[in-house]
Amino acid sequence: MPGSPTNAVGAIRFVGPPFEYHYAVPQSPELREIYLRVREADLLRYLPELQAIDGVFALPRRLRYVTAECGESGAFYRPADADVVLCYETLRTLYERGQHHQRFLGSDDDHPLRYVRANVRFIVLHETGHALVDLLDLPVTGRQEDAVDQLAAILMLHFADHDETTEQVTGNLRLAANWMLSDSTGAYDLHAYADEHALAEQRFFNLQCLIYGTDPARFASIIDAGDLTAARARGCVRETQRLERAWLHLLLPHVASEHAMSEAEALHYLRQRNTRPAPGPLPTPKIP
Ligand SMILES: [Zn+2]
Repeated sequence: MPGSPTNAVGAIRFVGPPFEYHYAVPQSPELREIYLRVREADLLRYLPELQAIDGVFALPRRLRYVTAECGESGAFYRPADADVVLCYETLRTLYERGQHHQRFLGSDDDHPLRYVRANVRFIVLHETGHALVDLLDLPVTGRQEDAVDQLAAILMLHFADHDETTEQVTGNLRLAANWMLSDSTGAYDLHAYADEHALAEQRFFNLQCLIYGTDPARFASIIDAGDLTAARARGCVRETQRLERAWLHLLLPHVASEHAMSEAEALHYLRQRNTRPAPGPLPTPKIP
């Protein structure tokens, strides 16, 4: 169909432009092995949540996912190019942190890679949130950093691979919560309080609340383990449902016409996905 996507109410929207993926060659020899591994695995293209939302939104331009050498650890959205950039240095740091976590837990040898993959999913989806806010001109009141943490968690809870169990899905989110704490000193200065991000511990507890809020009976152990206070937990179901509906409200008007659905249909679809049925015939992913 001719024409470009438009956000005008009532206008015809076409399928969104597909995401693009690029693995930039690093200059530093010590990052070359990481580069070769992620390029070989085509890491970004096979993140299940990105696959689920690819082409779903009527974006005004293509969104590209890039791995690159940055000179420091990090990940960011670059509005001028509509690029989400994940730094090789971050992948290296994540692997080291995963090794440390493995030793701490005494877990299996594959733990560091699981740690990397879980966090790459969360980080890339967080940056995708920044990209959607920019490209779709979404309104955000309050901290954008909190809002896109919420979107990343919601996407991971609903759009993980169908063969991943609920425990694996929430386990991945809890590894992301662990990574949030990696910068924490427990003692903050003025810069930390003034930062655009919430304190690491607050991001950690917000994420635990979102996990708990999906199924309090199933995740009661989160409170027992001290990862969520009983007082905060009381409001987590309502909080989780409110955040899901808020993101639906924001995103549904931008869903490309061939994926269009009402809010009721979308909520029903999300709830269905959250039950994580046994492998079998699956519905086509349609909405974020
Ligand atoms: Zn951010």
